[in-house]
Parts: sequence; C-alpha cells; structure tokens
Amino acid sequence: MTNSCVFCKIVSKEAKATIVYSDEQVTAFRDIRPVARTHILIVPNKHIESVNALEVEDEQLMGHLFAVASQLAKEERIDKGGYRLITNTGIDGGQTVFHLHVHLIGGQRMKYPMG
Ligand code: 5GP
Ligand code: ZN
Repeated sequence: MTNSCVFCKIVSKEAKATIVYSDEQVTAFRDIRPVARTHILIVPNKHIESVNALEVEDEQLMGHLFAVASQLAKEERIDKGGYRLITNTGIDGGQTVFHLHVHLIGGQRMKYPMG
C-alpha cells in the first residue's frame, strides 16, 4: 500500500469505485472515464508501479491477472466480438496512474493503427 496511490485506495476500499471482481491477488473496477461500453481496469492488489517494476516472483500474479481479464470479457459478453487489453507504461506510454493496470476495453470496433 502506497499512501498517495488512488488504485491502492480502491483496493483497500478507502476510495470508492465500481468493483466488478476481486480476490486475494487482483481487483477489477470500472474506469471513471470510460472510452467504450466496457472499460474495466484490472490491478494487482499489491502496489507495483509499472511493468518496469515487475519481478520474477510476479509472473504467476500477472498470469492470473490475464486469466481474470479473460473471465471478465466473457461476463461482459465481449469475448466473441473481441476486445483490447492495454497496459500503458511510463510517460511516453501514456501512463497517468503509477500502479500497474490492464485496461479491458470493448463493446465497439477498436480504432487502428495504434501509436
Ligand atoms: P493510464 O493512463 O495510467 O493507462 O490509465 C489510468 C486510467 O485510470 C484512466 O483511464 C483514468 O480514467 C482512470 N482513473 C484515474 N483515476 C481513477 C479513479 O479514481 N477511479 C477510477 N475508477 N478510474 C480512475
Ligand atoms: Zn498503488
């Protein structure tokens, strides 16, 4: 837990969010500014600043996080149509909240190319 981190506060329920899934390792909640019909953020419960800060011991956690993303896509009924998983990393990557998260975005045709 990092005192100033908004996602740590959502995980600990100190800050409000629409939580759609949680377990002992990860929490998923709806983005406050959705860019599509489904826009969910999936975060590790422990504070990891970004992909840059991942350690070998986090491999199982990240695999689990993607398994939860797959499960939520089915629950949101976007699995068949398809969806996008995004993890922005650092300033050039467009990261604005420095607690690692995966955006699960779907319910409409995504724009391409990226970048
Ligand atoms: P990033 O730009 O770091 O990849 O994404 C951060 C995301 O977090 C943005 O889509 C933003 O709308 C979302 N966000 C920022 N603060 C909050 C908050 O307090 N609650 C929720 N639910 N989402 C937030
Ligand atoms: Zn945090």
